[in-house]
Amino acid sequence: MQILQDLNVDLHTHSTASDGSLSPSQLVVRAIEHGVNILALTDHDSVSGIAEGLEAAQGTDLTFIPGIEISTMWGGGCIHVVGLDIQFNNSKLKDALLEIQKGRFQRAERINLALIKAGLPSMLELALSISGGKGQIGRVHFARAMVQENICEDVRDVFSSYLVKGKPGYVEHYWPSLKNVVSLILEADGLPVIAHPARYKLSYNLLTYMFEEFISFGGVGIEVATGSHSLADIERFKNISIKYDFKASRGSDFHSPSESRYDVGRAPYLPDCLLPIWASLEVRG
Ligand code: AMP
Ligand code: MN
Ligand code: MN
Ligand code: MN
Repeated sequence: MQILQDLNVDLHTHSTASDGSLSPSQLVVRAIEHGVNILALTDHDSVSGIAEGLEAAQGTDLTFIPGIEISTMWGGGCIHVVGLDIQFNNSKLKDALLEIQKGRFQRAERINLALIKAGLPSMLELALSISGGKGQIGRVHFARAMVQENICEDVRDVFSSYLVKGKPGYVEHYWPSLKNVVSLILEADGLPVIAHPARYKLSYNLLTYMFEEFISFGGVGIEVATGSHSLADIERFKNISIKYDFKASRGSDFHSPSESRYDVGRAPYLPDCLLPIWASLEVRG
């Protein structure tokens, strides 16, 4: 029997239900091949891949956790919140996700207009078809469309030349508030976790304030070991996790074998002085 700390746990992954390139069942197969013991599927603003993932994991040794990654607004910027072990059929959650998806479609139209203004041909139809028409259209689908049309060499290139703040295809967007999203996750009986905290361009004081508000809303954890963190970031958020008594999470943020920094199950391990959030998942059963 392995002890909790040694399990290979990946609590942040994407599938074709959002901007990943593998289907939920392909992702489950890959996770098993990589020796993952516990896998959460956390697609952006969508639970449409979860039923397939659960079915693929049935009868295997892999524990599959229904999850989500929701885009939120706090302090004028976008913060991603992962919800773990959610009741994915919760009706309030599903209604809210439909609204966010509508907003994503409207943003996609605005991104497209911004790109046209910058001299590009319309990318909307191709981006929509790459997204698979599942309601969740995002910047990655535009990036893949632009690579396919030979406008840029790779997805990273599209982001840095067109899709990040200050570039011609970037548009502002209003996501639901951090407070509302934490409530939604709690309502669906999930554990709210701040995703990749090192990625936000917040000063030390604002980051502290954000964590304190997150806790007051009912947030319980942060990602410490994630595909988006350097080893120095892991050390920094290890200390923050201890300071706030957060449960610590680990996840690759895997999207695609060719686009992601870490493959599923291959993110750095959690520092062993932390309380892994999967201890809570075990207790919940
Ligand atoms: P969206 O939610 O549609 O705004 O897209 C955000 C997604 O874009 C993230 O979840 C990543 O998958 C991807 N992404 C963000 N920044 C970059 C980047 N600099 N290079 C490549 N992909 C990125
Ligand atoms: Mn993504
Ligand atoms: Mn994210
Ligand atoms: Mn993610």
